Formats: sequence, structure tokens, C-alpha cells
Amino acid sequence: MAETRSTCPYCGVGCGVIIEHDADAGVDAGVDAITGVRGDPEHPANFGKLCSKGSTLHLTLSPVARALYPELRSERASPRRRVSWELALDAAAGKFAQCIREHGPDSVAFYISGQLLTEDYYAFNKLAKGLIGTNNVDTNSRLCMSSAVAGYKATLGADAPPCAYEDIDVAECIFIAGANTAYAHPILFRRIEEARAKNPRLKLIVADPRRTETAAEADLFLQLKPGTDVALFHAMLHVSIAEGLLDETFIAGHTEGFAALRETVRAFTPAAAAEICGVPAADIVQAARWFAESTSTLSLYCQGLNQSAHGTDKNATLINLHLATGQIGKPGAGPFSLTGQPNAMGGREVGGMANLLSAHRDLANPTHRAEVAKLWGIASVPATPGKTAVPLFDALHDGRIKCLWIACTNPAQSMPNQALVREAMTRAEFVVLQECYRDTETAPFADLLLPATTWGEKEGTVTNSERRISRVRAALPAPGEARHDWQVVVDFAQALGQKLGGNNAAALFPYTTPEEIFNEHRESTRGRDLDITGLTYSKLETQGPQQWPYPETAAAGKTRLYADGIFQTADGRARFANAAFIAVTEKTSRHYPLSLNTGRLRDQWHGMSRSGRAAQLYSHAPQAVLSMHPDDIAARGCIDRDLVSIASARGRITLPLESSTDVAPGNVFLPMHWGSRFLKGDGINALTIGTYDERSQQPELKHAAVEVAAADLPWRMVAVAYVADPHETLEALSRSFADFDYASCGFAGREQTAVVFRAAAHTAPSPAQTERFDELLGLRCNPLTFVDTARGIERIAVIDSGQLIALRLCGDISGADWLGEWLENRTDIGPLAWRVLAGGGTPPQGLVHRGRIVCSCHNVAENEIAACFANGGDVDVAQQKLKCGTGCGSCVPELKRMALKFSVASAGAIEELAA
Ligand code: SF4
Repeated sequence: MAETRSTCPYCGVGCGVIIEHDADAGVDAGVDAITGVRGDPEHPANFGKLCSKGSTLHLTLSPVARALYPELRSERASPRRRVSWELALDAAAGKFAQCIREHGPDSVAFYISGQLLTEDYYAFNKLAKGLIGTNNVDTNSRLCMSSAVAGYKATLGADAPPCAYEDIDVAECIFIAGANTAYAHPILFRRIEEARAKNPRLKLIVADPRRTETAAEADLFLQLKPGTDVALFHAMLHVSIAEGLLDETFIAGHTEGFAALRETVRAFTPAAAAEICGVPAADIVQAARWFAESTSTLSLYCQGLNQSAHGTDKNATLINLHLATGQIGKPGAGPFSLTGQPNAMGGREVGGMANLLSAHRDLANPTHRAEVAKLWGIASVPATPGKTAVPLFDALHDGRIKCLWIACTNPAQSMPNQALVREAMTRAEFVVLQECYRDTETAPFADLLLPATTWGEKEGTVTNSERRISRVRAALPAPGEARHDWQVVVDFAQALGQKLGGNNAAALFPYTTPEEIFNEHRESTRGRDLDITGLTYSKLETQGPQQWPYPETAAAGKTRLYADGIFQTADGRARFANAAFIAVTEKTSRHYPLSLNTGRLRDQWHGMSRSGRAAQLYSHAPQAVLSMHPDDIAARGCIDRDLVSIASARGRITLPLESSTDVAPGNVFLPMHWGSRFLKGDGINALTIGTYDERSQQPELKHAAVEVAAADLPWRMVAVAYVADPHETLEALSRSFADFDYASCGFAGREQTAVVFRAAAHTAPSPAQTERFDELLGLRCNPLTFVDTARGIERIAVIDSGQLIALRLCGDISGADWLGEWLENRTDIGPLAWRVLAGGGTPPQGLVHRGRIVCSCHNVAENEIAACFANGGDVDVAQQKLKCGTGCGSCVPELKRMALKFSVASAGAIEELAA
């Protein structure tokens, strides 16, 4: 066995990982050769820790779903067929060249990804802007971080998060706004927990429309109405002014524009803001005091501010608070935007977006364009701004863009307004998908599929939220015919150059290694705010991951920016943003009276292309559910855990309902992860809106107006089974979604993977349809069967050596939960086999229904933890007895919440008894 140091490919925390793998794995060994992953104790982002997602990376590498060779379809209606790379590149180059010749360079576009490495990103950017002459290159980072970029530039003058993770250790006040850090950036949340344990004075304020696991930890929770963040931040500034909490010296010496802002926030009294935000005025005052009076205040924020039609204002008005109170440029203080994707930062650094140029240069700036043209050795870089994500798909839809190249992203799951996005890809003349997986939601739309390498196979660099550049290293060779992403760009550029004739593709793309690309990118940063001219691959080997800037003269990267109070503006002074408060774009109405909020779960990541392959990652949240306040459920006559239909002006999906007081009345919450591969319909983003912020062009994925109604689907089915190939079976099952009104599928199990299928319909499907399921799930091999035709009940099970291995329940599905547990846990059911066919809501006496898994590392379920608390245990006792929360720690916030609920419940019981 061997070990290779690399970086986690999920979130922007950028944890270092050590990949354990077969040292002698050849090209055909595939990803099975990676046997384990653990945290890198020397990586400064995580010091050896990994969350539930990072620590299960080795379980996500199903070789079955890998794209291993190019596939091309000759006509739209025909299936793709395997072709050689030579033929694939020739076809792509021919199609793109023809389009460029006939319709101009802006008739083609590239939609790439914050999961690409910096070197891949650099190559794509140069391909579009340097070789083809179009700025139509945008990325899924547009859905994630572009409001943070615009917010930083509007106030501090540059897209540079000024803080470092070590600021968490010394902050006296942490303000988390629009971020569920406990779920989305778990390793940072571990750091916050540790800082709080060491420093009891540390105050934690959380602002969020939903009472999340992060909010539950807060000393002060501001449960604001969706979209009212600017009003809240203005009101906090109003209080700081009224109570003399400003840092007047800092304002006078280092900023511009405060007088106008002072006038604007005059109207935002705590009482006025309380009305707008739905937060008690006293809490706004308290938040403002803690923020301003603390010796060091650190703000952490993410999609709750970014994914908004006013995301730039939300970011900038939070930064206003830091500038006005001097909470910036010192240890433990500053506005710290948390990056959603592993390398959204790297993409920004190389200018891989429609409005940016290399090394934080601006496309709109002629001097910057001339500098980049000189660096690349070309006459000019096109001046016309490219199309950002939403306008790009709009242009594909109406034919202005004809050929689209998608790399390492899944727009048929992640883009808002899926109906339009999917129609756009159907209408396109030619769609290329460069992917490591062949089964994402976007794959069916591709005319050409190009197999790419992925995590564990790639070499390059990524930059995390704190500006830290880490090496990504390959543990295994590329499987099949897969090529590295940068390599595909180089190969395509050469082929396209030949087709277009008379250009300098060979000179522009001479690279034979990612290091050569890094070196060119490094040179492009000379003299810029992110200058890394002192950094090389070999320094990253010897010094470890480094923060930028790291100029030639430096001995190491810079931890914290703006300590000197000089900002990246022409006069060195930061700018206050005098933003007006504007409510959410899509107002709730009589037809759509509820505000939909979307967000992340603890154990899934983005569109589940990777995390959705690990059975263990379904144990915490087995399926997508809609969270809704009990009052709203009652008002609609819906039933907790039953199916509901959720509709917006753009689409409709059907899901189970979950009663939750974490969401305020009038709000509902959906996890963002489920797409059409796992759920009938176009996924969660069937509902979301494409409206976007004019400056950042980031869409408002965090809010849509919706209505919810009972689904009234009397026929139900649940099937779960161990099968020879769970991934292929899942693919086959998802092809049957059309037969039902509601259908979802996923995995379950731990040592072995089982497939799970849930469905509902107005009427029962034909016997032929259900027989197909029995075939797929191995239910035709000596099954036990119970059929009650009169009541529409059918139960089929296969038991082998005393263990349940396959099950299908139709009609009455009330025993599905505990029967599923029997199957997953390989319970020896021996004489209780008859109960499988009897079903029923409760398991046989003496057997406990374990419930959802809370601790994924040690496989501890909610009912086991509840029993511990019911017996007087607390979190410490639960950790000692059950080991829950002692692995990656991702479940600790939930354990604390459960303990709190129990203590509140038992206090209530004692009071009741006393009364
Ligand atoms: Fe990966 Fe978790 Fe670290 Fe994010 S916090 S980089 S998902 S291990």
C-alpha cells in the first residue's frame, strides 16, 4: 500500500487528505485501488480532521459510473457511440470551427466548474479568450461566490478575503450570516466549537431565516425574514452610530463615503428594522453592540448572502459594519466569505469567468486587456463581456449561442429554472460534456462525452477560502481512456487551431504538464494583489500549502490582509457601500404564498454527482423532504411525513413532508441536492428562479415563491434490496420514474450497498410494471409473498440464511422503516420471518426501531441516542457510551440539539408534575 497527500474535492475549507491506495495499481485498476482516506495532520486547514463527507471519499468512487472513453452521437435522436479520441476531437473542432466561421466567436460558449483545478481553469480561460476570441466562459462558481467577489470589490477594491482560519481561534465575537457552517463547512465549525470551549467570552451571533444546527449553537440567533439582510445590517450600523460605537479614526483615515451611508441608515431604527426583518429590536441592538464592542469580530458568510438578486448589496453592507467599527486587518477580525466549492477561488484568480481576466484583472479595463494580450502573445483580448451563467443558458435557448462545452459540472441539476435550462440544451446545435461520470443529469443532453480524470487521479493546485493554495496529487493513473481536463483543452485547442487555420494554437498551448500552466499563471500575477511570483510547485512541496500573496521577495504567504489599512483602490481607501434595501424579487402571492429556502445537508454535496454514490452518506438523510412549520401544515390539511406537491411559477415536484419548527411560519425549506437522477421530475431546481443580481449576475437560488398541497397519491410502494450491482440497478430504477406520480431512489447500508426505491401513484401500476422491479431487485428468487387484492396490499420478500435481503411493499408500507433496518443491519430474523409479511407500524416486541443515523462514523442512530438522554445522560455520556460524535465530529451540533430538546422536555414534565 502507499499514501498520497492531496486535498478534499468538496467544500471550500480545502482540507488536506491522505489517500491510502494500492501502490502498484495499473491503468486498469480503476478507482477501486483507493482503499481509504484520512485527514492530513500537517495541513493547516484541518490539522488531520475530516468531516463525514471527506472521510468517506473512498466510498464514492464507483467505477461503474465512470466515463472511460469518448462517445459521440451522429444525429440528435441517435444514441452516442464509442469513438476514438482522434475522431471525438475532430468532430468537436469541426463543429466549433464551423459555428465560429458562420456566426462569429460569440456563438460558442464554455460552462465550467469551481471543481476544476487552477491549471484546468487557466487553460479553458485562455482557450475561449485567447484562441477563439470570445468571453463566453463562465462557471458554476457564478451560482456560488460571485456576489462575494462583487461585494469585496465594491468595498475593499479587490476580490481578496482578508482573513485566515486562525482568526477563528482568537476572535471575541463571530457573526455568521446566511451560512449553516455546521453542515456546509463542518471542519471550520469544529474550530469554532474549540474556540468557544477555550474562550467562554467568545460570542456567537447567527442570522438566518431557519433555525439551523449552526443557529442552535448561537448565543444570539436572529431569525430574520428571507431577503432582509441589508435592513438588518443597516440597523446594526444605525445602532453603532447612535451609541457611539464607531471607530471614527479608522473611518477618517482609511475609508470614503461614510457621510452618505450615515444618511441612508438613519431610517433603519431597530424598531423599523424589527418590522422589516421580523427580529426583535432588542436583539438587533444586542447584535450591534457585541459586533462593535468586541475587541475582534469576525463575520463568516456564504450562500445566504450570495444567492440573491441583491447579493452584492448584502455582502457590501456587512463589510460596511467592519469598516465602520474598525473590525478588519487585525487578528480575529474581518469579513470572511466562505467559499462553497473547492476551487472557486482558483477560478477567480485565473479570471476564468465571463467578466474577469487573469490575475484579478477586469475585462472592462482596456489596460488590463492589453496586459493579458501581451502575456499571451496575441493581438488583443475581446472587449465584449461574455455571457454569465443564466444569460448564457438564455442565449443557448434562443439560439444566439449554438455550441456549448460543459466541463466538470451538472447544469441539468444545479441551474435555476430547470425547464428552460433543459430545453436550451435540447435546442443547442452541439453540446460537449467533459466529465468523469457518464450518468449525471447533464449527460443525456451531450452530443459528445469526453472522459476526464477526477480526484485521486489529477495533479494541480486549488485555493481555499483563506487564499491558501494546496497541491492536488494523483494516487492512481487515469482509468480507461480518460484524460486530464487541462490536457483535453490543449488537445482540443490544437485540433480547433488546425480547423480555423492561420492561428497560433501550438504557441498558445505548449503545455505538457500542469506545472507549466501554473508557472504561466504565476507570472500573470506579478505586481497584482494576488502576486504569487515567489511560489512554485517545489515550494509547495517543501513549505506546504501557502496563502497568497506570496511575491518573489517573501519567505512565506501572507496570513491577513489590510493590516496597514491600505486597500486595493486607487487612493488606498475602502469604500462604504450606500445600498438601498430591496426585498426579494419574487414576492409571495395568493397563488404562491410560501417562501422557499434551499440549502445544504450535512452528508450530501451539491448535486450528488459524487456524494450520491456512497450508501453511508444516505443514513443521515435517506431522501429529500420538504420542511414546513406545523401551523402551515395544519392550514393546508396536510399530514406530517405524507407526500405533498410543491409548485412555483416554473415547475412542480412531489416530496414527503416533514414538520419542523426550525422553519418560520410562511417559509419552507428544501435540500438543494436532489436532481432528476434520484427524484422524479427536474429536481429541486424545477422550482427556483433565474432572476439574478445585476452586478454579480448571481441567481436568487435561495428564494422562490411556492405553494404546497397534499399530493393525494393513494398507491404507495417501497422496495429495498441487495443486488449484484447497486449502481447499475439504480440507473435502471431511475429510468422507471415516468411510471409513477412520485418516485425517488438512493442507496442504504454500510458494509454492503442496498438500493432503495420509493414510489406513489394515483392508481396501481400494471403487474408487468411491478414484475420488472422484482426482476431488477432479485425478488423472483424463492420469494415469500403475501397478497390481499381486495385491499391492494402486496408484500414480497427474499430471506437468505435468516437475513432479509430483498423486499417490496405495496399498498400498506407502514413497516418499511423497521424492515429496511432489518435488511441494512443484516439482522438475524430467524423465527420472525413471518413478521416481514405481516408488516405493521411497529417492530416486533423486543426489537428496537433505530431511526435515522446521527453519527455516521460510529453508526449510532437517533433512537439509541434518545434512549441515552431519556435515562439522564448528556452529550458527554452519550459520547462515552455510544461513541457518537467522537469520530469526525460532524454530528456534535445535532447531539447538542437533541440533548437540549430532552432537557427542555424533561423540565416541562417536571413542571407539569409539580403543577
Ligand atoms: Fe472536505 Fe469536509 Fe473539509 Fe469540506 S470540511 S474540505 S467537505 S473534509
